Amino acid sequence: MGGWSIAVHGGAGVDPNLPVQRQEEAKQLLTRCLNLGISALRCSLPAIDVVEIVVRELETDPLFNSGRGAALTEKGTVEMEASIMDGPKRRCGAVSGLTTVKNPISLARLVMDKSPHSYLAFSGAEEFAKQQGVELVDNDYFITEDNLGMLKLAKEANAIMFDYRIPIGLETCGAGAMESALQMNGLPISIYAPETVGCVVVDSQGSCAAATSTGGLMNKMSGRIGDSPLIGSGTYACDICAVSCTGEGEAIIRGTLARDVAAVMEYKGLPLQEAVDFVIKHRLDDGKAGMIAVSNKGEVAYGFNCVGMFRGCATEDGFMEVGIWE
Ligand code: ASP
Repeated sequence: MGGWSIAVHGGAGVDPNLPVQRQEEAKQLLTRCLNLGISALRCSLPAIDVVEIVVRELETDPLFNSGRGAALTEKGTVEMEASIMDGPKRRCGAVSGLTTVKNPISLARLVMDKSPHSYLAFSGAEEFAKQQGVELVDNDYFITEDNLGMLKLAKEANAIMFDYRIPIGLETCGAGAMESALQMNGLPISIYAPETVGCVVVDSQGSCAAATSTGGLMNKMSGRIGDSPLIGSGTYACDICAVSCTGEGEAIIRGTLARDVAAVMEYKGLPLQEAVDFVIKHRLDDGKAGMIAVSNKGEVAYGFNCVGMFRGCATEDGFMEVGIWE
């Protein structure tokens, strides 16, 4: 047994011109969340509790794309989704289409623990939330000025966005759109596409767990479901490892990325980092996504094939790292 380890992410696909202050805020938030997870692990909380605690904190802070600060639909509303998985017994819970649940990850946990199902969505999920007495807020609570600005840019460019890139088709959208996109790509603007959050943990018993939470993609169609609530795509945990993905959900779904990391370890016998690298190389379109992972031996790994990924990790032997770029 290799001791506990933990990794967090705040999304893949980062604007290379992201203002330094934003980068620092993101790193501080990741560090705070890692420390929260470390304290919980030192108190011997099981991996499944630790991933929930950490993701709740990320949902509550507006910086990343989950809970408050979630990406907006084309209608300017928030439809959040999340999933959680407990490795040893492969128990899981997932939710989609949430509009009033303050902490979607905790509702996913309740689906796992308190319902006969694995996945609840839209009005049925909201009804279950009421029955379970979880904290509910108005949809407005989740909507930030930054995200309203980003939605405006996305609409002008007629694009659905997961990262900083100038949207395809912009040239057909007129001078106003071009000006906005240039601003978005760089310059003194406080707006940037927010990113999904996730946490993976192996505790000192060698139990692995994973949790992922998101508002999805900016300017997505109402009703769109991404990879984050899909067990095997955005989230997976088993007796061997735990994985949480981020990036363009449609590409992650096509590659069944999270489950494939476990499959490559199981069937090909690769160690964790090699399994992550293998799956990114062979199952993912270029420039699309990234992931964090831990193994039951206490290994921690990450990988991405886009410009950056907000992430951090820590292990029981005192190692801790937070980064954004390669
Ligand atoms: N994977 C998320 C989605 O497609 C977005 C992200 O990771 O930022 O909904």
